[in-house]
Amino acid sequence: MNNEDFQRCSDLWFDDGNIVLQAEQTLFQVYKGVLRRESPVFADMLSLSGQPEEHYGKVPLVRMHDTAEEIKLFLSVIFIHQFMDSRRANPELATIMAVSAKYQAPEVHRRAQALLTLEFPSTLKDYDALRTSPARSSVCQTESDFWALTIAVIKAARRTKENVLLPAAFLRAASHEVTSILAQDALDLEDRIVILAGRDKLSQMARKEPWAVVFSHGFGCGEWGNGCRGEWGRVRDAIEVSTNFIDPFCTVSPPVDRGKLCSQSRAYLLNTHPKAREDAWERLPIMFGLSPWAELVKESA
Ligand SMILES: [Zn+2]
Repeated sequence: MNNEDFQRCSDLWFDDGNIVLQAEQTLFQVYKGVLRRESPVFADMLSLSGQPEEHYGKVPLVRMHDTAEEIKLFLSVIFIHQFMDSRRANPELATIMAVSAKYQAPEVHRRAQALLTLEFPSTLKDYDALRTSPARSSVCQTESDFWALTIAVIKAARRTKENVLLPAAFLRAASHEVTSILAQDALDLEDRIVILAGRDKLSQMARKEPWAVVFSHGFGCGEWGNGCRGEWGRVRDAIEVSTNFIDPFCTVSPPVDRGKLCSQSRAYLLNTHPKAREDAWERLPIMFGLSPWAELVKESA
């Protein structure tokens, strides 16, 4: 090969490496045995029968059909220990997830998926944890950060059938303005429609349960003037956000003041509301046309 047009990736160039991978114009010199251990696809590719005919110097060379960025990320997870340590959910993780699915590399896949799951959880408990401490996992400082990550994850999840990430991704997307959702043309139109349809269904669901107490006129103890009504009114204002979307899972800050509620309302808050939230979470994937959680979890395992 003509070596002049190529660049070595200095972070992934080991002098005693025994295989060179070429992706676009970038070369990576790493170790066959490690690649074989991580991925049966690499194991096949590098097996004796599939000995590459090309060399870089004396080292066998394999041309990859991925982008240099994809291979760099994939190899970084494998060969650079600290690479994932400081990582938070970001669009690169979606790339890593997709490439590791292609090469059937379970350990790389697991590590990328674990970090993405912090941001797009499958349980209500984890979703609540994310809301109370959003900084623990996210790089999303701005709306455009949010969309970059969410779109990357939705596309990678669709491609790799990692559908367990989709309900939370769609839910978080649904909390944005309709115009903002429609404007994301990097996302398939079909998925934008799924988000908008789910947004309406979730709002309707939220008005029935878990938030029936503030949206149903029939509810009440007759003491609305003495505190109960005022407190529920405050809650309704807090959850009826300007985006015209009612999130069934939202919490209000400061929390509902139990001291201002009558016993009937208190019972609703303590029993009916949490149970309705759980039930709503169970139905979340269906709101976006996906299989139930149990199947999504099973599929991605
Ligand atoms: Zn009351």
